[in-house]
Amino acid sequence: MSNTDFVLAVEDLTVSFDGFKAIDKLTLYLEKGELRVIIGPNGAGKTTLLDLICGKTRASAGSIKFKNQEMSRLAEHQIVRAGIGRKFQTPSIYENLTVFKNLEVSFPRGRGVFGALGFKCDQEVQARIEAVSEEIGLADQLEVEAGLLSHGQKQWLEIGMLLMQEPELLMLDEPIAGMSVRERELTAELLDRICRNRSMIVIEHDMDFVKKIAHKVTVMHQGRILAEGPMESVQNDPRVIDVYLGH
Ligand code: ADP
Ligand code: MG
Repeated sequence: MSNTDFVLAVEDLTVSFDGFKAIDKLTLYLEKGELRVIIGPNGAGKTTLLDLICGKTRASAGSIKFKNQEMSRLAEHQIVRAGIGRKFQTPSIYENLTVFKNLEVSFPRGRGVFGALGFKCDQEVQARIEAVSEEIGLADQLEVEAGLLSHGQKQWLEIGMLLMQEPELLMLDEPIAGMSVRERELTAELLDRICRNRSMIVIEHDMDFVKKIAHKVTVMHQGRILAEGPMESVQNDPRVIDVYLGH
């Protein structure tokens, strides 16, 4: 496979914080339509890797190519515009707005030809809200104030807010933390649905959940990749058991 076939190509990526390498010459390729799960002990650098890809943190060295375009020197908003969406661990929805409004304000403005064509724009927004709310299982809750949703529903709404931007790569940091068993099941189905037409990177600790959703698993340790492959092989890798799964 040539590099151009990957939606994301991270090569020799390094970031130092006061001499400490939180990410150390890390190389990772993601295929189009792939759902990759990243696991590893606390402090392995998982969140930092997402921070680098979305432009929140600047790399010290190495490259991050998204659809063959270099991202590592772009500003965060340019990276979003290029098609990378990222959900942080804590939800950032507007609690006192309805589900509908939360989705509406997340529609990307000011980059289209709409300007004067307000009506057409409204129709497009409306259609996108309907499609997204269906996808995240909140189509019946559009008029509900977001603050009244369950913890799980709030997480799905935030994923929906990202989907309003139609990202080609979606990155989620511990999306099921604090969810009930049922909400976890529904989230697995949701992720399965939404990665049909995009690529995803998910950081997660819950191994049952990882097994359910992962196409491939990357195990990080001390800013590097310790192992990578299908869940079954990673799970039985003695090094992985030693630094992570054994605890
Ligand atoms: P993980 O998400 O795998 O638990 P992190 O990416 O949050 O790990 O952290 C990796 C390491 O980098 C940790 O030792 C953390 O303390 C350090 N680190 C992360 N961000 C910063 C920062 N902005 N400044 C200094 N150190 C940081
Ligand atoms: Mg983290």
